[in-house]
Amino acid sequence: MLELSTPVQYVKGIGPRLAEILSAKGIHTTNELLQYLPFRYEDRLNPRTIAELRPGEMATVIADVRTSGLFRTRRMPIFEMTAGQGRARLRCLWFHGTYLKDKFKPGQMVALYGKVEVDERRGDFQIIQPQFEILGDPSDERAAESAGEKFAASLEVGRIVPIYESAGQGRLTSRWFRRIIHTALENLTPDLLDPIPAAVRARMELISPREALWKVHWPDPGESLQDLQSSRTAAHLRLIFEELFFIELGLELKRREQKAQTGIAFRLDDRARAAIKKILPFHPTAAQKRVLKEIASDMEKPSPMRRLLQGDVGSGKTIVAFEAAIIAIENGYQVALMAPTEILAQQHYFSARRILENAGYRIVLLTGSLEQDRKREVRRHIAQGNAQLVIGTHALIEEKVEFANPGLVIVDEQHRFGVMQRLKLMKKGTEVTMSVAARPASKSTETKKGDTTVAPEPDVLVMTATPIPRTLALTIYGDLDLSVLDEMPPGRTPIVTRRVSDERCEEVWEFVRKQVGAGHQAYVVYPVIEENEENELKAAIKMHKEMRQRIFPELHVGLLHGRLHPDEKEHVMKEFQKGDISVLVSTTVIEVGVDVPNATIMVVEHAERFGLSQLHQLRGRIGRGAAKSYCILMTGDKVSEEGECRLDAMVRTNDGFQIAELDLELRGPGEFFGTRQAGLPSFQVANLIRDRQILEAAKREAAAVLDGPNGEISQQEVNLALRHMRTRWQHTYGLVEVG
Ligand code: ADP
Ligand code: MG
Repeated sequence: MLELSTPVQYVKGIGPRLAEILSAKGIHTTNELLQYLPFRYEDRLNPRTIAELRPGEMATVIADVRTSGLFRTRRMPIFEMTAGQGRARLRCLWFHGTYLKDKFKPGQMVALYGKVEVDERRGDFQIIQPQFEILGDPSDERAAESAGEKFAASLEVGRIVPIYESAGQGRLTSRWFRRIIHTALENLTPDLLDPIPAAVRARMELISPREALWKVHWPDPGESLQDLQSSRTAAHLRLIFEELFFIELGLELKRREQKAQTGIAFRLDDRARAAIKKILPFHPTAAQKRVLKEIASDMEKPSPMRRLLQGDVGSGKTIVAFEAAIIAIENGYQVALMAPTEILAQQHYFSARRILENAGYRIVLLTGSLEQDRKREVRRHIAQGNAQLVIGTHALIEEKVEFANPGLVIVDEQHRFGVMQRLKLMKKGTEVTMSVAARPASKSTETKKGDTTVAPEPDVLVMTATPIPRTLALTIYGDLDLSVLDEMPPGRTPIVTRRVSDERCEEVWEFVRKQVGAGHQAYVVYPVIEENEENELKAAIKMHKEMRQRIFPELHVGLLHGRLHPDEKEHVMKEFQKGDISVLVSTTVIEVGVDVPNATIMVVEHAERFGLSQLHQLRGRIGRGAAKSYCILMTGDKVSEEGECRLDAMVRTNDGFQIAELDLELRGPGEFFGTRQAGLPSFQVANLIRDRQILEAAKREAAAVLDGPNGEISQQEVNLALRHMRTRWQHTYGLVEVG
């Protein structure tokens, strides 16, 4: 008997060699094999007769092979196979089909799937490049039968048949998977525990795991083909819910564990309020007020804050972060503000000094590129508790920095981090600050209980500029509470976005000249995505020269890219900020957070090469003041279909949420959230876009289980669910330990 946890190697027909191939597909256990779902189903219950076919339809035909052969045209070799049913004929063609040379034998039964066309010359039906499966020939059947595989043939025809992606460069075919999965199901232990509590099962109307696994691979004859294709059968829904439920259970547990730690109960008294009021350079928007309230209320509680502040570019997150910082500082604690890039750290540093230093707060900048001496000095200030607000890149926490008295960690991640990266980062952040807090602390840490000093967990506020649809944010950031800045500061005129072909660049430069003449500033951005791409960088540098000498000889043109010396970068940014530079030629380093309200033009060269969210972030650099702003997307002549789609969206809307939705659709969740490089495996059966509603339900139910036990859910059920969740997380998400 097979348990779900049995290694696939022990499934009949697999063995160590094939297990290795499967392992490359992420299939290690019987359960993972059974979660390898068909990507398509074929209705071979009622296969079409050739005579019934209609041109243009997708159809499955079962017929026998009549003739086949390779012929060469001037352009390419083509493999042709004719299949027949009685007198009816169906022609199948495969371009470059040399590999099929000895594939078919006359008399074999084959299943063919593809788009039906009419062969113009002969008037027959044909399918070009059909997917096919050889269903065996008489000798095959006899062999199978003698091997005791009586069911073999019945798996291929006379039913709805599952089609799997092949593996191992085609060695493990769809047909192979069909048999193996069938065998595994037949040998699966009869007592399969349902790890989902009965009350949840009842509410969600879930069928049993065994039934779900059978039916997702071997649907009942009456099952709707459409529901199957769209993963909406009861079997699919059960498996999808299960996957999402255990992810949510893990995230929710993590959230609760973090909450259960000892944090700092900051006091928001009149003094802190007055301090906040004093620094505010403008009236906060209603959204900013609401969000600050949410943050402040977290900070007042004795459990540590774990909050995500989400707001589109330009929605005013910085000031909210500073307000939170003031609360912590006024309570005698230190604050760390971490930015993803040096430029952004510098920018935060300048803003902080502008806004906070008048109030007398001591602010330091700590980045990787500081001189050693300076670094040491800054660290000393931090360790002695002199520095109240420490701003730096993430290197700030990666190299061990000792804080005398850390109270609040603000992570400005913009959109640079994937889920797993963030979890790691947060972990590191609290680890470092924890180990620091555990040292004999300064007088303001009043957590001494007898002789042992209890280290309080600092609060953590994560800021992101990637607008994520709320339901998804709740899930992806399921371990955090969520605040959303959904309102732009007043007095902005919407940005006008235009798409222009390269060839009209002279007009564009003329327009830039006019705007600069009117006292504004411009960005010209080049697609240097990786700062180490020498050639791309050269293009930006060359363009800078060209602008200075030929296009705008009368203007001050600056250059900013990731490879400049930090001092140089800082200098350029300052000059641009002051308005001394009129046109800033730049790479995407300005994509994050740079804030110069007088800049009203953004020209993006080769806009088709940028991702949608990235373009939106870039555009967020303008439209920050009251003057009308223009985003000009210049494109070369070769733009892919998806590129067109992105550019269209940019011209159509300024709404970050709409853009995020579309980006999510275009790129898929893995790329969108950057989980690929961050090591979060993609979901096995769920699809975050398709299954949003199930996701919400899963989150709700996971919380209910953790609220248990109660009249509905027994302690035993809670334990079983948690045990199952831990195994699952360990196996699938290896990186993160829960519980
Ligand atoms: P982001 O959310 O992208 O970090 P910022 O915090 O940089 O946005 O704010 C964008 C711009 O809007 C800044 O110039 C900031 O000074 C300004 N700003 C923020 N809040 C307000 C407000 N309530 N009223 C007027 N201007 C504001
Ligand atoms: Mg910002």
